[in-house]
Amino acid sequence: MTVKFEADSKGWLTKGYRPLELEQKVREFWERTNILEKLERLRLKTNSGVLGYVEGPPTLNGYPHVGHVRGRVMKDLRYRWKSMQGFYVPFWTGWDCQGLPVELEVERQLNVKNKKDLLERVGEERFVAECKEVIMKYYAAWHGVDVKAGVFINDTKAYWTYLDEYIEREWKYLKRAWDQELLGEGYYVVAYCPHCQTSLSNAEVGMGYEEVEDPSLYFKFQVSNTKNEYFLVWTTMPFTLVTDLMLAVHPDAKYAKVQVEDEIWIMAMQRVEPTMQELEVQDYTVLDIVLGEELEGSEYNYPFFDIIPRQRELDKQPSVHKVICEDFVDVTAATGVVHLAPGNGEEDFIAAQKHKVPIYAPFDDEVNFTRDAGKFAGLFARDADDMVVEELRKRELLVSVKRIQHEYPTCWRSHHKLVWFARREYYLWTSKINDRIVKAAERVKYYYDPPKNRFLAFLREGKPWCLSRERVWGTPLPVWKCTSCEYKELVSSKKELFEKAVTPQKGHFELHKPWIDRIVFKCGRCGGKMQREPFVLDTWHNSGAAPYARFTDEEFERYVPVDFLVEAIDQTRGWANTLLLEHVMLTGKAESPYKAYLFYGHVLDEKGRKMSKSLGNVIDADELLDKYSADLFRFYVLWKCSPIDSMNFDVKELKKRPYQVLSTLYHLYRFFMQNAVYDRFTPQKHTLEWAKANETLKPPDCWILSKLQRTVDSVTEKLENCEFNFALSDLEEFVVNFLSRQYVPMVRRELWSDDQETRDRRLTVYATLWQTLRTLNLLFNPITPFLCEAMYQQVHKALNKTLLESVNLEEWPVPNEKLEDPKLEHDFDTFLKYVSLTYSARQTAKLKRRWPLRKAVLAGPKDAQNAVKNLEDLFLELANIKTVEYVDTLAEIKSEIGKVGSLASEDDMHVWLDTRRDKALLGEGLMRDLARRVQALRKELGFTPTEVLKTVYLSELDAESAKLLKPHLKTMAELVRTRKVHLCKAKSELEAEWHDYKLDNRRICIAIP
Ligand SMILES: [Zn+2]
Ligand SMILES: [Zn+2]
Repeated sequence: MTVKFEADSKGWLTKGYRPLELEQKVREFWERTNILEKLERLRLKTNSGVLGYVEGPPTLNGYPHVGHVRGRVMKDLRYRWKSMQGFYVPFWTGWDCQGLPVELEVERQLNVKNKKDLLERVGEERFVAECKEVIMKYYAAWHGVDVKAGVFINDTKAYWTYLDEYIEREWKYLKRAWDQELLGEGYYVVAYCPHCQTSLSNAEVGMGYEEVEDPSLYFKFQVSNTKNEYFLVWTTMPFTLVTDLMLAVHPDAKYAKVQVEDEIWIMAMQRVEPTMQELEVQDYTVLDIVLGEELEGSEYNYPFFDIIPRQRELDKQPSVHKVICEDFVDVTAATGVVHLAPGNGEEDFIAAQKHKVPIYAPFDDEVNFTRDAGKFAGLFARDADDMVVEELRKRELLVSVKRIQHEYPTCWRSHHKLVWFARREYYLWTSKINDRIVKAAERVKYYYDPPKNRFLAFLREGKPWCLSRERVWGTPLPVWKCTSCEYKELVSSKKELFEKAVTPQKGHFELHKPWIDRIVFKCGRCGGKMQREPFVLDTWHNSGAAPYARFTDEEFERYVPVDFLVEAIDQTRGWANTLLLEHVMLTGKAESPYKAYLFYGHVLDEKGRKMSKSLGNVIDADELLDKYSADLFRFYVLWKCSPIDSMNFDVKELKKRPYQVLSTLYHLYRFFMQNAVYDRFTPQKHTLEWAKANETLKPPDCWILSKLQRTVDSVTEKLENCEFNFALSDLEEFVVNFLSRQYVPMVRRELWSDDQETRDRRLTVYATLWQTLRTLNLLFNPITPFLCEAMYQQVHKALNKTLLESVNLEEWPVPNEKLEDPKLEHDFDTFLKYVSLTYSARQTAKLKRRWPLRKAVLAGPKDAQNAVKNLEDLFLELANIKTVEYVDTLAEIKSEIGKVGSLASEDDMHVWLDTRRDKALLGEGLMRDLARRVQALRKELGFTPTEVLKTVYLSELDAESAKLLKPHLKTMAELVRTRKVHLCKAKSELEAEWHDYKLDNRRICIAIP
């Protein structure tokens, strides 16, 4: 007969699901056999199509945390799935290597205080070398996590944004923009971080808002040529009064002239009451109401002429220190009168250009006021706040000052408060082609509306892209400018650069500062000296250039627009944006470089808080994957919520349901394997076709196979719609409910038999399970590739050596119409509902499912009755009842209820159970209880389920119970797989290891020698 531990000794399947061990073996297997490369080669050679892909490159300035890996799992899911569908996808890595984030990391390491310190103490050459070391350190971590998480991305074809060949191709974008006059120098108000000493792009500004404290200041400007009329204004940035040049009101709003003591204040009508309340002014009278447009052109007395002489000069220009009308003025907040400082605000700047008001921005690179700011010269802009307040107070123009907490944009890297001011920078004037950009974006598929709307709204703003950065570690802006005539030239290749260089290059050279700055051209116009404009590019331009820069020309044609991208939700302002802008500039077409873009939500901690270093709740991906399984992690992040939702990540939760689902699948495999090997099942021979021809397929088999086809269909559709969580719950339901809780109990009993006559029937069940598990293996593979590979090798390939080398080389299943049977599925639904009603009725009567009962009466519609009639034997077995009767209505059952019984109902379906038990039923129930005890003991003692025991001994049973049990000993022997069950009078009868139990207050001892 069979040998103990046979299954385990062959190294098939360990007793419990132990994912960490299993995954390590699979990792080694993939490594040893090069499956990743083989898959790519296979699909390159024969495919059903090519789907372009370009990797959203992680910035190499930190270690990957669970939030990052959530996205990588989604990418990998898509890749594995599409590859299984036969597509070739260039799923290759990319690494974002340059920019402020990396520089700040190095600055921290080297203790750099500011840019001056950086340039003088460290020097650009060493700084660049340090930057490269930092990225390599983080690269190793990212690559390691990809391998651990089972992300099947090809890292041998990586792109690195800092390499010369990438930079040269990135420059091609600039060349195209330059030729179309979309790239140029100009003044514009930019957000500027005083710490990082560089401007930020519009996209970056939205990335960091923080609660900060600022002054809340009400002040007044006197209307010129009046004795006592004032505009009442509010601001949180007093320093901008230094650069104040205009006031703005809304043309269509009503403005009130309000008497307060002996003064008249002008403010928006609807703001009078709340403002007076805020200022604690009780006595006031509205004297007059005018429309905003009537105020247009009014002059006001700028108060600081004495301390800012430049302001007195500016005052001579028309429109300066006058009221203008602007639609952007918000009359639902503050006083509805806004002061404009075109040197410090974007809307102010645009308004100034409209009214031909000069830009006054007296700031140096550190955002300190220059000599042009008079008394304020030398002060850091934000430090001037107090002085402005003081000066207003002296002039009796201060109405009130407090401190407030409010949300204010901060630097997304250094967290300093941003300052807006007008600077000479290089811009991509994307606003000129904004209609094309928006049109291109509208054609993209986004799967979910909220991120789509957010993205399109952001794009419609169409602000110019400030491209230049006053930093070191970045792609150099390839523009040279003549020091005498200011003529400019843009180069777009190393070759061109060397041809134009006045002196040939010696020694090390790369396309970075400081080397590139040493190259000087001769001016083509005046013969003067041309030097490079000292800027590097916004790092977002680097990754945005990936579609062209990472490929060859030929590959670019083949793969772009790419098929599908998935990145975090904040990339609406980041990569999704820059990819689009650059592509439209490059091609000149209203075409997006991606056809579909899924934005996924952030990962929060288990309490729903943002993960941050300060809270100490960031979960490092590497540590997590060392401790918990990659499959569990993958399943969890895909299953827990919709991809666009923020996800509360809870390790405790990961260990519960996800583990249960995967463990159930694993144990189904084990159950299958133990039985199928015992009966020498051969998948090539015992196919479903064979079973059909043999007429051994039964309704439960057909039912589960039909359910399986439906699952294949729905999972595929949900993956296509990026409803990963719904796809996973379909799989969860199939494995846990349909297969494990419903199908297996329907056939388990048949598998107990060892008879030759019924072997074909058992082989049919195995054929059904084989087909089902094979399909599940494929469906689960993009989600839990480790478990699937392990089962593929240890079960499917172990039984069928002709299968492919790895599950990853297999094809995605399609529903088999021949196996679909909607009518049968419907009948089974009804049937299972009746079975579950019998369970409820038992529960009410406190009768265990193991105890057989004499009779059930079913009521319900005719077709529902028929569903049970057609499967009556199965019903009797699952419900554990001897006979069943059918009636049409509950009323007919009620006539029976007079006797002892228990009723359960749902809608118009009812089950009544006869709960009376005679000696035979009691005896059988007792036998079942004991059998279960013996089964558990068998398992504890390490016998495999298929192993046949010699004798099972029972003793210490009271006389009455022993009498009840006796007629059922033979059945019991079959149930527990032993040749004989022997009932001893006392333990002393047998010298053996006895196990003592209590069973419903009966004592029972069992021995399996
Ligand atoms: Zn900063
Ligand atoms: Zn020149």
